Amino acid sequence: MRVSRLMLVTLRDVPADAEIASHQLLLRGGYIRRVTSGIYAYLPLMWRVLRKITAIVQEEMDATGALETLLPQLQPAELWRRSGRWQGYTAGEGLMFHLEDRQGRELGLGPTHEEVITSLAGDLLRSYRQLPVTLYQIQSKFRDEIRPRFGLMRGREFIMKDAYSFHSCEADLSMTYRAMDEAYQRIFSRCGLETVAVEADSGAIGGASSQEFMVTADAGEDLILISGDGLYAANQEKAVSHPPKAIPLPASKVALLDTPEQGTIETLCTAQGLVPSQVVKVLVMLARIEDGELQPVLVSIRGDQQLNEVKLINALSRELNKGVLDVAPISADQITAQKLEAWPFGAIGPDLDDALLSGATSWTKHFLRLADPTATELNCFVCGANQNNQHRTGMTWSKLGEVPKSVDLRKSQAGDRCIHDSSQILEERRGIEVGHIFQLGRKYSEALEACFTNDQGTQEPFWMGCYGIGISRLAQAAVEQHHDQAGMNWPLAIAPFEVIIVVANIQDEVQQKLAEQLYSELQAADIEALLDDRTERAGVKFKDADLIGIPWRVVVGRDAAKGQVELIQRSSRKVQILSAKQAFNALVNEIAANQNTRV
Ligand code: ATP
Ligand code: MG
Repeated sequence: MRVSRLMLVTLRDVPADAEIASHQLLLRGGYIRRVTSGIYAYLPLMWRVLRKITAIVQEEMDATGALETLLPQLQPAELWRRSGRWQGYTAGEGLMFHLEDRQGRELGLGPTHEEVITSLAGDLLRSYRQLPVTLYQIQSKFRDEIRPRFGLMRGREFIMKDAYSFHSCEADLSMTYRAMDEAYQRIFSRCGLETVAVEADSGAIGGASSQEFMVTADAGEDLILISGDGLYAANQEKAVSHPPKAIPLPASKVALLDTPEQGTIETLCTAQGLVPSQVVKVLVMLARIEDGELQPVLVSIRGDQQLNEVKLINALSRELNKGVLDVAPISADQITAQKLEAWPFGAIGPDLDDALLSGATSWTKHFLRLADPTATELNCFVCGANQNNQHRTGMTWSKLGEVPKSVDLRKSQAGDRCIHDSSQILEERRGIEVGHIFQLGRKYSEALEACFTNDQGTQEPFWMGCYGIGISRLAQAAVEQHHDQAGMNWPLAIAPFEVIIVVANIQDEVQQKLAEQLYSELQAADIEALLDDRTERAGVKFKDADLIGIPWRVVVGRDAAKGQVELIQRSSRKVQILSAKQAFNALVNEIAANQNTRV
């Protein structure tokens, strides 16, 4: 391909709306253009990258025996009602774009495909003899993300590979899950990415395993916690660890404390001479349930600890046996909107009276009460007195009456001691989630009544797994991991081209001839070469070559008269002056040496 024919438009200035390096570079390098919020056009260079990633993913998926398919993006509401997800995915801040057709039937644009595939499997797979089966597809997904940002990292239309496996028993599911884990490791390493596999949240369905693959980068949206010895790594949403030890509050009689303007742990502790681990703080939250219910929740946790909202959502789903969409702190305005009397915010205790909810217009009229072990393990503590500006000291759980159910709800943090070895300390890193593998169990097959006949002749729902890779996010993550001040630096296997030949002065016939000759030789050797034959100044062409990040550059300049060229490696910036023939041989060797990663 000739750069003069490539429609290449590069930008010198950093686009105002791009915050992170990879997003800036992809825009500047003419790889992508924003069409509207969270929606991008993939320009020819980008499309070549995406096709290469796709080909690697296809090869590795096919090698596991998975079958490629293509499912519809428009999906009937009916299916999503059967799985119980329509309401949650469309109402309020739901992620699904949805519409009505000319007959008034509701449809959604697929954010994911569990519903469609599970109902198909139920129709097509009737007997245990047909199992296991894994189907995968690579296509655009649609999610009306609340905060689309960072370019392709969090788009509203993006490319995903999703796979779903169907099994007759859990052990078989585990086998495919492990095979997918290995296939994923190969995919990321072939794409030239360094990834960390971390334990991930698997929702409320207990026991199911789930693992995310993270590209470590400062710009990552996820926080991951890794033990010093590398034996434990988890997404913070899921991570467990030992909390720091509490400083005991000496036992004393129960007494009221006047605590005006001491509504936060910090102000309370400073004024009363306490430390945060001697206080039980109570968070008042509202949970939005899949079926539309709104449930007030009281969470007790030690004053120095933070709440992990994902753990809370899972615990609530288990308690209520219903999907919980999200939780958020209750504000004073919401209390007024429910036509309730004011609550003693800043002085709430675990035993806040349900009577406060009796007049609620759309909330459940009692609190669901949970406590983290850091709170329930305290023998003596300070907590709110449920009256404005008053706390109680010398409290114990028995004096409070009912002890709330104790469940792990705390957020693990860097510096915590590890569970597998308490001499190990958790460290924190940021990560970009490029893949996720997940043992779904029978959640969807039960909901959609997708069953097969087992070897005993009885009907049973399938065991299922699902496995995703964000193809377009992965492409940008590669840039986030491989770039420098001057531009991108693509790993060879997914670079849009392997070599760029820059002709310093295209008016110079000798240079032009030598470049053309090398260009056709490289193509004949099946090397993907780009020829910068533009009439631009040499400096402009060098800058563009750095920016678009092709792994190898050959500069044909003044020394062309002597048959010599410069060979430059983009990553190391190493320059070699070679004859055109030597440069050709070097490229063939370098690129052939990486043949195993090529597609
Ligand atoms: P996240 O936690 O980042 O929102 P998710 O857990 O909702 O992602 P999955 O449903 O597991 O994502 O989707 C599979 C993969 O698709 C993810 O691992 C990620 O790489 C990619 N992905 C998810 N959402 C987006 C998005 N909005 N834009 C680009 N890629 C995405
Ligand atoms: Mg995920």
